Order: sequence, then structure tokens, then C-alpha cells
Amino acid sequence: MASQTRRRVLHAVMGSVAGASVGLSALRFTAARAQAAPDTVITLRLSDDLYMLTAGQTNAVARTEPDGVVLVDGASAGLAGALSDAIEGLPASGPIHTLFNTHWHPEHTGLNERLGSAGAAIIAQENTRLWLTTDITYPWDGQHFEPLPEVARPNQTFYAEGDIDSGVRYGYLRHAAHTDGDLYVYFPEANVLAVGDAVSGAGWPLVDWWTGGWIGGIVGGWSYCSTSAMPKPASCPRAGRCSAEPI
Ligand SMILES: [Zn+2]
Repeated sequence: MASQTRRRVLHAVMGSVAGASVGLSALRFTAARAQAAPDTVITLRLSDDLYMLTAGQTNAVARTEPDGVVLVDGASAGLAGALSDAIEGLPASGPIHTLFNTHWHPEHTGLNERLGSAGAAIIAQENTRLWLTTDITYPWDGQHFEPLPEVARPNQTFYAEGDIDSGVRYGYLRHAAHTDGDLYVYFPEANVLAVGDAVSGAGWPLVDWWTGGWIGGIVGGWSYCSTSAMPKPASCPRAGRCSAEPI
């Protein structure tokens, strides 16, 4: 996609708060997130068929394919409807047939129940599925999380890596920078890596040590992404800017 076109898209959706660089051309843009209504979804086109959608404080990545949409993360339950509407409005959109959960946190699994009920594949690392079937209470603030209903849980899990028919690849970020179920999803044609909360574009990633993250994993996760077989991918973290450089 030409930079000019990308720039036009960015100008249409972005405002004045310093924000992000994205894509393969190190294009810089500014985000209107601070001024946006709480349920506004900001859409950024990364390539002809790949989009980053920012709902609240989290990013999702959607790829439109001839038989439907591949989605990485599904926002919170409160924003799932808005995200779903935004995906429906993408050019050449269709039903979401595959959802990746980059980890178990509820701000990323809001679409699970809806998509699981519709028969979509929900792919996650096995540890993420286990967390989503478990009662979790954070010891530092008492926050409690119920298990997801069965239909909303990941229905395709893996331990190390895998791919889907369209060539999209995924794998385990085993260093546990955020949780012990972190995964990446790699879109080879656009050379974009979606990494959830394991990498943050807005500072250091939060380490959820209660569900397996540990501080040493931050360096390991970054190192893994930057030295893997993927040549200089643009990386889309859970929050904040995408990076056009290796992370
Ligand atoms: Zn998280």
C-alpha cells in the first residue's frame, strides 16, 4: 500500500495526541484516542487487507479474507459490539471465522462468547484456555474473574506453534512477558506481527505474575520477536503504537 494512501487513511482517523508509528514505512501518526468517545473504534489500515482497530485502550488486528475475517483479540465485553460493527464495516469484510486470544485477560476476550456461539474457531495457547476455565482472584487488589462459559472458551489450542489455511502463522511467546499463555500471530504478506500485551507500545508491559508472567520475560519476549525468522516485522502490541522496526 502506498504511503500516500496510508497517510490519507491516517489523516481521516487521527487527531493531535502523539501516538504511533506503523507499517513498513516507518510512517508516524498521531492518535485521537484521548478525545474519542469511549465506544469509538479507531481503524488503521496496515495493508490492503489488514487493519488495526483500537477499542478503548486495546488494539485488535483484523485480516479480511475471501471466506471471512481473521481477528486477533476481541476487546472487552463492553466494547465487543462496537468492535464487531467496525469489523463489519471494513472493505471486503465478512463473518469472523477465526479469533485468536493473545492471552486470557478480559479486555481481549469480549468477543469470545459471541463468536464461539457462531461457530468460529477460537485459537489460544493451552495455558490461556486453562486460565479461562479457572476462577482467578488477584492477590494485590482482590479482583475476581469467573471462568468463561464453555462456548466462549478457546476451542483450538496448541503448545508451540501452528498456522491456518490462509498462511497466517502463530506461536507461543514462551518467555512469559505478560502471562504464561502469550501468543503471537504473524501475517506474512503484510509482515505484521500481532503480539498482544507481551509487548507494549506505551511503556513497559505489565507483568501479570499471578498467571505466570515474570519480569525476566520482558527481555526474552522482545528478543524472541526481534530474532525470529520474520524479517523486520511491524509489530502491533496490545496498546499504544505499532512499531515499524524490529522489537
Ligand atoms: Zn493483558
